[in-house]
Amino acid sequence: MGYKIKSIFYTLQGEGFHSGRPAVFVRFTGCNLWSGYEKDRKNAICEFCDTDFIGTDGENGGDYHNPEEICEIINMLWKGENKHNPFVVCTGGEPLLQMNEELIGKFRDNNYMIAIETNGTIAIPQGIDWTCVSPKMKAELIVKSGNELKLVYPQDQLNPQDLLNMDFKHFFLQPKAGPDLEENTKICVQYCLKHPIWKLSLQTHKHLNIH
Ligand code: SF4
Repeated sequence: MGYKIKSIFYTLQGEGFHSGRPAVFVRFTGCNLWSGYEKDRKNAICEFCDTDFIGTDGENGGDYHNPEEICEIINMLWKGENKHNPFVVCTGGEPLLQMNEELIGKFRDNNYMIAIETNGTIAIPQGIDWTCVSPKMKAELIVKSGNELKLVYPQDQLNPQDLLNMDFKHFFLQPKAGPDLEENTKICVQYCLKHPIWKLSLQTHKHLNIH
């Protein structure tokens, strides 16, 4: 099986628990909750996406035929000293549409710390080191445990308190991007102050103007 990859790039993780940590991002093409085309947005299950995950035209993007080819790029990009294993964030789109045993096995052979950012609609395979789930109001949540739950907020009819019975170590609220970002940020700040189990996650990469 091949892998359609939008881009592979070295940057700082901008959001959530590992915010500020150097990482190689592998952005997989495609998502099961939106086609990625503006014309389909209003009828999509997930309507507020701010990511371009269509095609393979990004930095180091392409049709990869096997996991070795992807690892070659990751190893070339990773600047960590030998004692720091590569931190690889698999994202999308929805990375679990394409990540399989073979790819994860090859990542493990290379001693990567494997993190994923998923919408939680597909079961997590074995071998992932860090799971960040970002639930979407209109999609059935399958993954109810992991390291980090990152809720883009506000989302109509989605009450953060209803998610606290799930087995996550960290709960983050992240202001929904778009024209209401400033207002959404205030809402998230107030919510965290009132419900301190929730922590604020900001998209720091956007402030830094990096990937
Ligand atoms: S689930 Fe994630 S990648 Fe897919 S459309 Fe929504 S925000 Fe974008």
